[in-house]
Amino acid sequence: MTPRATRVLVLNSGSSSLKYQLLDMADGSRLASGVVERIGEGPVADHTEALEAVAAELAGAGLGLDSPELAAIGHRVVHGGPRFTAPTLVDDAVLAEIERLVPLAPLHNPANLTGIRTALRLRPDLPQVAVFDTAFHTTMPEHAARYAIDTATADAHLIRRYGFHGTSHAYVSRKTAELLGKDPSEVNVIVLHLGNGASASAVEGGRCVETSMGLTPLEGLVMGTRSGDIDPAVTSHLHRVAGMSVAETDELLNKKSGLAGLCGDNDMREIQRRIDEGDERARLAFAVYIHRLKKYIGAYTAVLGRVDAVAFTAGVGENAAPVRAAAVAGLAGLGLSVDPERNTVRTGEPRVISPDGAPVVVAVVPTDEEWEIARGTFATVTATADSAASMDSAPAGAGESAGPID
Ligand code: AMP
Repeated sequence: MTPRATRVLVLNSGSSSLKYQLLDMADGSRLASGVVERIGEGPVADHTEALEAVAAELAGAGLGLDSPELAAIGHRVVHGGPRFTAPTLVDDAVLAEIERLVPLAPLHNPANLTGIRTALRLRPDLPQVAVFDTAFHTTMPEHAARYAIDTATADAHLIRRYGFHGTSHAYVSRKTAELLGKDPSEVNVIVLHLGNGASASAVEGGRCVETSMGLTPLEGLVMGTRSGDIDPAVTSHLHRVAGMSVAETDELLNKKSGLAGLCGDNDMREIQRRIDEGDERARLAFAVYIHRLKKYIGAYTAVLGRVDAVAFTAGVGENAAPVRAAAVAGLAGLGLSVDPERNTVRTGEPRVISPDGAPVVVAVVPTDEEWEIARGTFATVTATADSAASMDSAPAGAGESAGPID
């Protein structure tokens, strides 16, 4: 019997960039990674050229796309709408459905589609799997996913709360359970994914029951350049009083708001430096950011009823000890506190930062979205191969068939 191919190439196609990682699921090793930037603006004309460049680079390292060890290509796809609840093997119907969802993610889904189509052209025989940012959140109960607007209008335009960063929330909630020495089904976790984009989720026994982003990634926490929660009437008000167009308010709320809007900087390192120098605008931006974060911690504590752990992740969550300390300051009543020394330790490993015996474990859990995409991709192709090989095997739910690869 020939040994099974165990490598997965993960592609994350943005509007002008292509990030890639090659992982071996047999031992978890990362064989190659990189990024092609400024696609369409420089020597690389389009995504086809970008992927060809990646393929050439990998081939130069003896890891070409034609390698028999390559099991599949896993593609990050931002919006999976209501139907995609797990990593999905790509075929024409899947491509058409991702295309249908373009109005929900007009910047991201077209780039993701281009990446998939290009990869299909280069390796038409190789399984391609779409892994959706929204999938982990499809377990949210209807009362959390619904906006309280006219049902017919909402349904006609697929307006509901989808949530994003799902691969990160899935990975981090599982790793947090591991850190606690428990099975994910036994623990309730609040995950705070604080990067340039930021979102919170409430994960009950391994299933997402609430998340802070909505129809688009604009809702929820204060982010680097996005406002997060805001009275939706601000948009129409700005239209009336300032003549701002739909495109202008979109740009305002997504690109010129959040920390950047409040103080001119979206990088938490710079904001901390300015606070240390006594800068009032930076201090206020930080205070607004922390206030929103605390509201969500409180709200998700209420949603879950019992919280076993709060996990900080992504660029800010993993690195900014003052953010973590401020986010839980005054929340001892909810069982939350951090040990100042543990909070300032820096390692790349998951770690507990609350004091021993604290009612709620506060943890730093580095995220790894590429690994999660590779894991979902490999589980999907393995399940497909297994069910094709055995008439007896039940059709495998892709998301549940991960096997001992993590
Ligand atoms: P991400 O989107 O997860 O890559 O996070 C990027 C953000 O993380 C940056 O914009 C910074 O605000 C933040 N960040 C990265 N490193 C640090 C650090 N050492 N201290 C504070 N914030 C950081």
